[in-house]
Amino acid sequence: MKIWLDGGLQDIESARVSVLDHGLTVGDGIFETVKAVDGRPFALTRHLDRLTRSARGLGLPDPDLDEVRRACAAVLRANPAPLGRLRITYTGGHGPLGSDRGEHGPTLVVALGETARRPDSTAVITVPWTRNERGALTGLKTTSYAENVVALARARERGASEALFGNTVGQLCEGTGSNVFVVLDGEIHTPPVASGCLAGITRALAVEWTGARESDLPLDVLDRADEVFLTSTLRDVQAVHRVDDREPAGAPGPVTAKAMRIFEERSADDLDP
Ligand code: PLP
Repeated sequence: MKIWLDGGLQDIESARVSVLDHGLTVGDGIFETVKAVDGRPFALTRHLDRLTRSARGLGLPDPDLDEVRRACAAVLRANPAPLGRLRITYTGGHGPLGSDRGEHGPTLVVALGETARRPDSTAVITVPWTRNERGALTGLKTTSYAENVVALARARERGASEALFGNTVGQLCEGTGSNVFVVLDGEIHTPPVASGCLAGITRALAVEWTGARESDLPLDVLDRADEVFLTSTLRDVQAVHRVDDREPAGAPGPVTAKAMRIFEERSADDLDP
């Protein structure tokens, strides 16, 4: 497996970053996960725009997007796979122990993981912890993911593949690695970005393509929604057949099934050549 580091391809076994990299010591970094189908990245420009937004939010220098594009292309060429996930990681770089950043520039790593097609439907749980809709990192795709790791482990213990968070004012927010949609009286709703969720790229496409509305939703909407579905780079549009102990009727229900179909058809156009 070849990865991109220090401006070129390296073997993953011998590639090294500093043990004092701020990404490691204090979680000072950002990332993107990009789906790649037959070596072609999906919606890469949108991911790179978000990478820049996240960098600015953390006060990191803007990433060199020409280099990131070259890195993605080189890594995809070196590791052919029918369905892969590019992982772009960009950190504060080698620094002193503690929270101040050092003089060294940021670290950029691009790697590729294999991934399997996700099942059409899945189980989710809700967790008692909240997303902070007004935090310094809200809406940024940072590598500070430990809270998601804990919540996802809780979901796995309960036979689910995702954990959903509310925010501090009791509204539905998002999952550990996905956005959430509900169907109420035939209309599709998803929490607005102001709820504290990540501005998911799949979410944005699903809103655009299905006419879903952005609505403030109480967390208990999950108890009465006719249908629930998730969106993310690795799930695309995925129906939810169980929320905690409740089973929304027929997953995928008719509205979700239509959203899945639309997404599959339209997304074929968004693969970067
Ligand atoms: N919310 C969080 C916290 C995520 O980490 C992700 C993706 O990793 C998403 C939502 C979905 O975003 P996207 O559709 O861009 O993958």
